[in-house]
Amino acid sequence: MKLLCIGSSSRGNGYILQSSNGALLIECGMPLVEVKKALGWKLSGISGCVVSHRHKDHSKYLPEYLKFGIRALALEDVFASFPKLNRTFCKSIEPMHGYIVGGFKVYALPVVHDVPCLGFVIEHSEMGKLLFVTDTMMLEYRVEKLNHIMIEANYSDELLEDAISNGSTVSSTRERLLESHMELKTTEQILRTTDLTAVNEVVLLHLSGRHSDAVQFRDRIAKAVGKPVYVANPGIEINVSKLPY
Ligand SMILES: [Zn+2]
Ligand SMILES: [Zn+2]
Repeated sequence: MKLLCIGSSSRGNGYILQSSNGALLIECGMPLVEVKKALGWKLSGISGCVVSHRHKDHSKYLPEYLKFGIRALALEDVFASFPKLNRTFCKSIEPMHGYIVGGFKVYALPVVHDVPCLGFVIEHSEMGKLLFVTDTMMLEYRVEKLNHIMIEANYSDELLEDAISNGSTVSSTRERLLESHMELKTTEQILRTTDLTAVNEVVLLHLSGRHSDAVQFRDRIAKAVGKPVYVANPGIEINVSKLPY
């Protein structure tokens, strides 16, 4: 099982879990051609696409994916945000419910953003259990027996304050971020209070362009968790097999 990242920022989000007999797409905020490229133009095995919320950096290309016949699972308001959407391949999902997508089991968790938003616990026999959490100020739940964690580390208070004091960010951004995105210390605290015994790696998502530092974030979280930590840069490919070694 491979995790491919094609985008992980406010410019567009898209991830692929590629198993030996099918792929699950997470988010449709990147053009379909990027998915096609990442999959080496082998598209027959796409099991479906799960979408966390209606913001366009996560959902913009939904109509294009649907037109291509990809089954999409998302909150009703994600579909409703596109007028005249052909609903043939749309499946409305709800928090605290589980769904089967090809060989993947997907369980939807409620998270805390400025619009309704879901995290996902995704299971597959080749991968074990993966947590995906983005665009949330916090996480109320601790999921047990995880093998892989993909979690937002959007900004740090220090870099945000620097940007506000040098004028590159307006101060009202602080309140908006506080209620919608994950600060580095929150990411760290969630990981410190999660049982990481069976976790192979942590992947940091959705780093802010102005209020983050990829190397600093990665090193800090790696020190806290004692596991390999990656930043979800576009093009990165991570082995997320249950036993990768
Ligand atoms: Zn976003
Ligand atoms: Zn968002």
